[in-house]
Amino acid sequence: MSATPSLELLAPLSGVLIELDQVPDPVFSSRMIGDGLCIDPTSGVLCAPLAGVVSNLQASGHAISITDDQGVQVLMHIGLDTVQLAGKGFTARVREGERVVAGQALIEFDADYIALHARSLLTLVLVVSGETFTRPAAANGLIASGEPLMRIERNASPAGALVEEEGEALFSSPVTLPNANGLHARPAAVLAQAAKGFAASICVHRRQDSANAKSLVAIMALQTVRGDVLQVSAVGEDAQAAVDALAALLADGCGEAVEPAAAVVVPVVVEAPSPTLLRGVCASPGSAFGRVVQVAEQQLDVPEFGGDEAHERASLERALDEATRALQTLRDNAEGSAQAQIFHAHQELLEDPSLLEQAQVLLTQGKSAAFAWRQATEDTCALFERLGSHLLAERALDLKDVGQRVLRLILGVQERVAELPDDAILIADQLTPSQTAGLDTRRVLGFATVGGGATSHVAILARAFGLPALCGLSAEVLKVPAGTQVLLDADLGRLHLMPEEADVQRLLLKRQEQRQRRQRETEQAAEAALTRDGHRVEVTANVASLQEVEQSLTLGGEGVGLLRSEFLYLERQSAPGVEEQSATYSAIARALGPARNLVVRTLDVGGDKPLAYVPMDSEANPFLGMRGIRLCLQRPELLRQQLRAILACAGLTQLHIMLPMITQLSELRQARQFLEDEALALGLKALPKLGIMIEVPAAALMADLFAPEVDFFSIGTNDLTQYTLAMDRDHPQLASQADSLHPAVLRLIATTVKAAHAHGKPVSVCGALASEALAVPVLLGLGVDELSVSVPLIPAIKAAVREVGLPECQALAQQILGLENAGQVREALLDHQQTTAVEPRVLEN
Ligand code: PEP
Ligand code: MG
Repeated sequence: MSATPSLELLAPLSGVLIELDQVPDPVFSSRMIGDGLCIDPTSGVLCAPLAGVVSNLQASGHAISITDDQGVQVLMHIGLDTVQLAGKGFTARVREGERVVAGQALIEFDADYIALHARSLLTLVLVVSGETFTRPAAANGLIASGEPLMRIERNASPAGALVEEEGEALFSSPVTLPNANGLHARPAAVLAQAAKGFAASICVHRRQDSANAKSLVAIMALQTVRGDVLQVSAVGEDAQAAVDALAALLADGCGEAVEPAAAVVVPVVVEAPSPTLLRGVCASPGSAFGRVVQVAEQQLDVPEFGGDEAHERASLERALDEATRALQTLRDNAEGSAQAQIFHAHQELLEDPSLLEQAQVLLTQGKSAAFAWRQATEDTCALFERLGSHLLAERALDLKDVGQRVLRLILGVQERVAELPDDAILIADQLTPSQTAGLDTRRVLGFATVGGGATSHVAILARAFGLPALCGLSAEVLKVPAGTQVLLDADLGRLHLMPEEADVQRLLLKRQEQRQRRQRETEQAAEAALTRDGHRVEVTANVASLQEVEQSLTLGGEGVGLLRSEFLYLERQSAPGVEEQSATYSAIARALGPARNLVVRTLDVGGDKPLAYVPMDSEANPFLGMRGIRLCLQRPELLRQQLRAILACAGLTQLHIMLPMITQLSELRQARQFLEDEALALGLKALPKLGIMIEVPAAALMADLFAPEVDFFSIGTNDLTQYTLAMDRDHPQLASQADSLHPAVLRLIATTVKAAHAHGKPVSVCGALASEALAVPVLLGLGVDELSVSVPLIPAIKAAVREVGLPECQALAQQILGLENAGQVREALLDHQQTTAVEPRVLEN
């Protein structure tokens, strides 16, 4: 792609232009973040000053960066100290990763609210990639949104580009971030500025994510929060000094006044760098001992020029068609699984208009189809990788994968398949999703890669296959000779190149014990789950695909207790149609057959899980906002269509419909009315069973009023715990306290069961607590009738039911309800487990 040497930026707002020197905030006036201009706004919508991709949108909605295809990066920051408004007053109109055109609305803001609650409304427009610019307009004049604001001279190499240094990375000790609002623009600028003072390549790491420490936008894109545990790494001459200085700066708040963050106990394993041990990030848990197979990328010879333009164009189109068909076949063969969703995403990449347009331009310049296609995909991948967002970087991997697929088809080259021993541990710079999806899991025991991330498609596939996997290893791993015996310990993030015999033996023994126990449990999985005294507990599955349903049946699942229907709605640009939905529900219903229960939970999105096609206001507190049934009742057509689609499988199975996040009786009544209307329109005589999730304390406390109006309750302990204890279910520092075994949660379960049974209605538990073997005695003792659990754990939960007797569970539950905290409950359950730990029961056939 050829770039024009200069670029015109448009004013993102109407208002009064102010020079940066006059901004009453040294972080901006000193140009530490970047040079630019300031506007005192008279309009309330911030628009894109240039075309590009939203490379960062701060969770609090007050700052956004756009990066164009040549790397020019512009940061807009609305107001001063507005991060403290925590999103109030700002409504984002775009999402991170979205491509925008110049002039497109990005963020709406409530100028009155911000003016009253923040220091200032002054809005900064800063060129953070370092280019110089000239100003067409006179200073201190008025400017209207969309008018030319400045002209940027493009640099040959942008200042923020990361220069890769060779060598061993040094890591700092973990630092707990003390800044109340994480590394937002101000502290991120101070950190980036300090990092630029060192020659070393420097990264800031938070769990599996990392950012170039010299890039302000990349640091902001980490979306850190107070209490995050960060590490600094550096490679290069002054690496040690850089690591020490930047870790100290982070601990001190990067120029912000901070209170010391609550101490977080992080087990730090300080190990001398050792060539026999490589560290990475766990992408999929487990461990394996096997022989190294190095998987190198297939190099293809691509001629720059080809035949005439029409011929090359036809050749590209043919290859794109063939690739789309091949992906469709792979999708059909994997229907309902994680693989199918990934191949679908690849098909969508093949239709990306900007990618195709780039290739077409090159064809008109006489380039060959292969050259044009490779150039277009490589440029787009490079853009994704540059943007500093780990999500986009991971999509780059998908694009490389699908790009190679098309390239091979244009060139008529077969994919090379490596010969594998039957204990292969694959090592690669990166594995593509296609390679991972096609792995022979009888021979491959695990893999380790330099690139990739724990949220990548490759990691998702590894988890689906149960293959241990590490990512983020140093490039040293690519030099390990093929055939070397290695110990891959993904749980601890380690690859041992010369494992001690004792370590291998310990690992093999642990695995053998686990395997034996799992085998015993799996052999007995098809048998009913009866307590020692013959009380039957139904054990069903929590699923989100047809494949999981099928797997659950092979593992002794007795039906589906929770179908999370969100999988049909997420990661797409428009809502699934009634036909598409009903085809999926019907396939699942057929797999279960007429005698088993299928509980379809209606759409539970909103708040933290927004849908691209359902515009929602950003919310300061999404878990307390328009979630679940609230969103569906606000958009009745969404719910009506889903109910229509679900009703299409009535008669194929024992159909149940379940409503999430019910808080008020009126919500249940309104949803029932919709169901009755839709059933009537379809001419159905009998309604399916209708139940609700008990996951809001209000519903548990009023279960006696809900019970007469429902057919069943299912307790969502994940949400019930977060709402009862007022602890975010994903909060890293509260994770150990947000325990579903807290007596307060157990008391709500007891209340729910009592009310349901008084009206003859059954109760299941479908939250993660049901999948915890330790919790089984207390749940049975409280009277729960059904446990709906994560698929791989069905055999283990059935085994746990068989170990106990109902009367002893009832006594234990009563005792537990009187305890003070979750720790005491866990202790009581462990004591109970030890006293009942006898030889596993042998079931008579
Ligand atoms: C729950 O909240 O316990 C539950 C099962 O629902 P989800 O985890 O899907 O919110
Ligand atoms: Mg829930």
